[in-house]
Amino acid sequence: HLKIGIVGLPNVGKSTLFNTLTKMAIPAENFPFCTIEPNEARVNVPDERFEWLCQLYKPKSEVSAFLEIHDIAGLVRGAHQGQGLGNSFLSHIRAVDGIFHVLRAFEDPDIIHVDDVVDPVRDLEVITEELRLKDIEFMERKLEDLEKSMKRSNDKQLKIEHECCQRVKAFIEEGKDVRLGDWKAADIEIINTFQLLTAKPVVYLVNMTEKDYQRKKNKFLPKIHAWVQEHGGGQIIPFSCVLERTLADMPPDEAAKYCEANQVQSALSKIIKTGFSAINLIYFFTAGPDEVKCWQIRRQTKAPQAAGTIHTDFEKGFICAEVMKFDDLKELGSEAAVKAAGKYKQEGKTYVVQDGDIIFFKFNV
Ligand code: GDP
Repeated sequence: HLKIGIVGLPNVGKSTLFNTLTKMAIPAENFPFCTIEPNEARVNVPDERFEWLCQLYKPKSEVSAFLEIHDIAGLVRGAHQGQGLGNSFLSHIRAVDGIFHVLRAFEDPDIIHVDDVVDPVRDLEVITEELRLKDIEFMERKLEDLEKSMKRSNDKQLKIEHECCQRVKAFIEEGKDVRLGDWKAADIEIINTFQLLTAKPVVYLVNMTEKDYQRKKNKFLPKIHAWVQEHGGGQIIPFSCVLERTLADMPPDEAAKYCEANQVQSALSKIIKTGFSAINLIYFFTAGPDEVKCWQIRRQTKAPQAAGTIHTDFEKGFICAEVMKFDDLKELGSEAAVKAAGKYKQEGKTYVVQDGDIIFFKFNV
């Protein structure tokens, strides 16, 4: 399944962020067949629709969606050459499907910056350069392998792959991230097999003082925005590690009072939701008196495959998906009312499941 990794230079706030997220994690016993490593957390994806459905059905069991987050420490300048255990950290990045790139936009003389002066745009350059260099190295090796194979075989596919790899390598060498390329479908099929670091979606998390966060002003933020725009765009979320830690250490009612009094709000919900969507996940609901549950799938999944996430038999024997839109249910108040209004739809094999669909699958046994 899909996951997102927290990446950034040392002392930017990664562990603090990870630890506050961990406090929101779903307990490990909810995932009986998985081992969850200490640097991994599975956090609830907050969703008002889910809460509303639970209110309506009052089910015996409630299962929300979760985002799997990995804390990937230790990236430094020169990581691609093995600096600071760089290679092993880079391989951890290879294993995730998206990146939370944490940037330090707070100044604090007590907390040293690896490059002395706080400058998040320089940090962006350092990290993205490391990722690109690693991808170039990967592509060079891939090209060598392909050239060896081409000496032994005339397979046309090898030539196609070789040609694609050359274009990808040239693109990265121009200083561009692979995810920004306008690749043809055939290229994408090849590129996807490489798990390139610069192909992964990135969400930029800008860690600033509580005061800056509260007044929505920080001297680095406009420069970060400009840099991200120039480099293909992407979501930028300001947050404050210090605030998040303060809130995480309080009981919920006290935290609520604190937010009210200081006119602030935790950014964690936004961070989680944005990360979930950045790695192309959505979910549909199944809802009834026994259970209200979010089923996470990749965007663009068709109904039979979505059914398959519940049970393989649902996919094999798929007949149809009976779909209610959340907004219709909320507006009309009950399944019966949705049916009476003719808005309870039967969808077939080619239906592309939408985020928030409430589905009942029919299948042959
Ligand atoms: P990491 O190396 O990126 O994982 O960074 P840490 O989360 O370990 O943070 C490094 C140090 O910076 C710790 O002492 C944190 O308490 C501190 N720190 C993190 N965020 C902030 C912040 O927003 N403001 C200040 N002043 N200190 C912070």
